[in-house]
Formats: sequence, structure tokens, C-alpha cells
Amino acid sequence: MKIEYDVVVIGGGPGGYVAAVRAAQLGCSVALVEKSELGGVCLNWGCVPSKNIIHQASLFRSLDEMEAIGVTIDRAQLDYAKVKANSRAVVEQLRSGVSGLLKKNKVDVYSGSARLLSARTIQIDSAQELQTNNIILATGSSPIIPLGFEVNEIDVLSSTGALDLDALPKSMIILGGGAIGVEFAYILRSFGVDVTLIEAASQLLPGADEDVAKLLSQSLQEQGVSIHVATRASAVIRSDSGVVVSLESQAGVHEDLMAEKALVVFGRRPNTKNLGLENIGVSPDKTGHLAVDEYGQICPGVYAIGDITASAALAHVASYEGEVAAEHIAAASNEQNLKTAEASAPLAVYCEPQVASFGHSEATLADLGIPFEKRVFNYLGAGKSVAIGKTKGFVKVLFDPQTQELLGAHIIGYNATELIHELHLVKTAELLPEDVASMIHAHPTISEIIPEVFRSVIDRPIHG
Ligand code: FAD
Repeated sequence: MKIEYDVVVIGGGPGGYVAAVRAAQLGCSVALVEKSELGGVCLNWGCVPSKNIIHQASLFRSLDEMEAIGVTIDRAQLDYAKVKANSRAVVEQLRSGVSGLLKKNKVDVYSGSARLLSARTIQIDSAQELQTNNIILATGSSPIIPLGFEVNEIDVLSSTGALDLDALPKSMIILGGGAIGVEFAYILRSFGVDVTLIEAASQLLPGADEDVAKLLSQSLQEQGVSIHVATRASAVIRSDSGVVVSLESQAGVHEDLMAEKALVVFGRRPNTKNLGLENIGVSPDKTGHLAVDEYGQICPGVYAIGDITASAALAHVASYEGEVAAEHIAAASNEQNLKTAEASAPLAVYCEPQVASFGHSEATLADLGIPFEKRVFNYLGAGKSVAIGKTKGFVKVLFDPQTQELLGAHIIGYNATELIHELHLVKTAELLPEDVASMIHAHPTISEIIPEVFRSVIDRPIHG
């Protein structure tokens, strides 16, 4: 292996491996350094295993529907170790896919922990050194574990420990009602665990559309999840019989809750420590994130992408930023096209009903003083939703009353995480409401909701 490269990428998650592949495709010699497993958090302990287990949870839940057609199955036969094993098999398969992709694109992969000695020199495990013209930092993030919530992955778990369980507890207190907490609440409750979900903000999914958060809360409660919003946990204490979590509501009411295990999902902090940033004169901000320009540069020739930047901590955002950085590097030497930074990525939460959105919420538009109108179409109005019994939910669009530009879109309901992309295309391609309203959608489909909601924007509603 040579030790001089055009680009060295540190971190092999969805940001790093995509950046490495793209840079190689654009003609650069590329090395990628990964200290753990290729695929990063997303593939190994995030998006991929969680979505696989959510899929299995939904299958288990669908036994209710099977019973409605006369099929009876003994649920006590559930072997959760198999559920986990299935999720790990999917991870293995995709990880070998990433490895193959890097090989195919002739990216040299180094195993070890990398740090910057300068903007041109990387050191791996205090031993080997690589020289390079450009560096892409893609080191991702780790769980935030405040004092008093120490994780032992036995009875106080992080999301990694929760995805690694071979058997389910009888009860679980989930600390944090963001996307990860909500998805685990859905998983665990689907398999019959007694779940309590604690969130300090006044709603689940802080920052999400308020109506979406309300319906989500109501749906999870109907499924049997106990939800405490506007409630702070001050500590988790271990006892012989499990854990005790001390809570304080916004009204100052104290309460101690007991459960077999607790899951701490307060959020994630960027992995920017011990990277040698001081050797290039760069400091992270006080939350640990790195400030970047529109191409992801933190200083000439050094880029930061994914969870270590202040953009949304999402796998697809990391990958996009990886491409932008690679394109910028290659354009610097090959005169290729440059891309501007990502603007409005969709966000998806894979519980039931699913949640997906992009752009502004009503609250952010009001805060910014931006005039807007909204239209809402309920799933109940679509024939397909009724036919398959998935009537809970709505699509909400927020638009500029003058130009009819889409400012934000919010969906809660069946298949929301797929449906959001048609709305995102409207935004990205700058389509007008009449373009979508006039586009024939197959009947019966859930997608028919999209033209329906735009019909109401141009006052031509049929089913609304
Ligand atoms: P990471 O995926 O964190 O990868 C960083 C890599 O860098 C790691 O492999 C790490 O070992 C390596 N590394 C770190 N430091 C060094 C070093 N010094 N030297 C060498 N290697 C190093 N996002 C979604 O978009 N959709 C989802 O459904 C979703 N679900 C999630 C579920 C869970 C439970 C979790 C925890 C996260 C989820 N996320 C989801 C978030 C998503 O995983 C992250 O946004 C994404 O992984 C960030 O990608 P990244 O490339 O920035 O970093």
C-alpha cells in the first residue's frame, strides 16, 4: 500500500465511505481509516439494525391483524434472540457490501485510530503515517451520557446496548423522547414490554410539527406506552430489582419510577476529541461540532462531514456532505462541477404511525415572521388507507401564500417515510401546486393524498 494520497478519509460511516468512493470515482487516490467497523454507527448500531428490528416488531404486531382473519399464533413462543440475530445478519451483509464497494473503487482501507499531525499528515495508532493533500474528517458521534446516568449496558443501556439485547426485559424506562427514543418505545412495546417514555421538552420529537407530535403521543399511548413530557429525569439508580429513575415535572412534582432496565437516549455528541485538531489550529464549538464552509471545509484542504458538523445528524445528510466534499476536492484539481451545501433534508421516524418531514414547521415560520398558509389532508380521505385499515394520520403542507412555494411538509401515517420524497421532489424541483394536483396517481394508493393536498392549495379539492 502506498502512503501518499490525494485524499485521506477518517471514519468509515455513511459520510466517510461515500466520500471515499466518490473521491476515488473522480480520479483521486484515496485512503480510508476506520478504528472500528466499516459502515459506522448507521450500519452497525443505528439506522440499519434498528430498522430491521422495527420491521420485525411490525410483523409481530401484525399478528393482531392475522387474528382478525382467524389465524391464532402463540405469542409466548417469541424467541427474541432470533430477532437480534436476524438484525445482525442484515448488518453483516451490508457491511460486506461497503467493504466490496471500497475495494471496487480502489480505496485503501486502514484499520486503526487516526489523528491529524498537520493538515497534510495523518497518524494511525501512533505508528503509521500517511501523507495527503486533503483530509475528510467523518468521525461521527457518540451517545451523550450525563453524570448520574452512567451506562453499564446491563440494566442501564445506550442505544447500542438496546440493539444488542438477546432477551427483552419486562419493563423499560426510556429517557429521551427524540427519534431514537420513540423508535425504541415502538419496538419494545410491540414485543410486549412495559414502556415508559420520558421527555424533558413539552412534546415528543422536540422541534417536530406540534400536531404530528400530538397524534404520535396519542397513538403510542393507545399502544400502551406511558408518556411523560415536560418531565426531567435527575438520575438512574440501580437496585437489586432493576432501576429507579427520579423524575421532576415542570410543575415541580417529584416521582420515582421503577423498571427492570433503563435506556438513555438523550442525544449524541460529535467525536471531535483526540483528533489532533489543535495541530491545524481548529477548535470545535462548545457543543463539540466543527464549523464548515459551504463545501464542508474547516480550513483549506481539511473537510468535516456528517455528525461532527452542526447539520442534522442523519445518515443521508452525512453521505450528501461526503459527496460535496469529494466533488470540491476533485474540482480543485480536475475543474469538475462544484456543489453547494445541502439545504433541506427529509427526516424520518420509523414507528407506527411513521413520521416524516422537511423544512419549516408552523412554529419556526411564526418565530421567523414568515407568512404562510397550511393545508392538511387526512389519511381517512384516501380509499387505500381505508381499504387496508391505516386511516390514522395526515399530510400537512406549509406554503408561501404569494408564490405558493413549499416551505415545509409534515406527515404522520402509514408509509410516511416513503411518501415524504414526493413532497421533497416538489420542493427541490420547484414544482407548483397545480403541477402536482394535475399529476395522475394510481388508484387506490396512499400516494393519492399528495395531489389531494395540493388540490386544496389551489382551491380545487375533490375528496377534502
Ligand atoms: P458514523 O456513522 O458515526 O461513523 C463514524 C465512524 O468514524 C465510526 O465508524 C467510527 O468508528 C469512526 N471513527 C471515529 N473516530 C475515528 C478515528 N479517530 N479514527 C478512525 N476512525 C474513527 N440516521 C438516519 O438518517 N436514519 C435513521 O433511521 C437513523 N437511525 C438511527 C438509530 C440509532 C439507534 C442511532 C444511534 C442513530 C441513527 N441515525 C439515523 C443517525 C445516524 O446513524 C448518523 O447520523 C450517521 O451514522 C452519521 O454518519 P457519520 O458518517 O457522520 O458517522
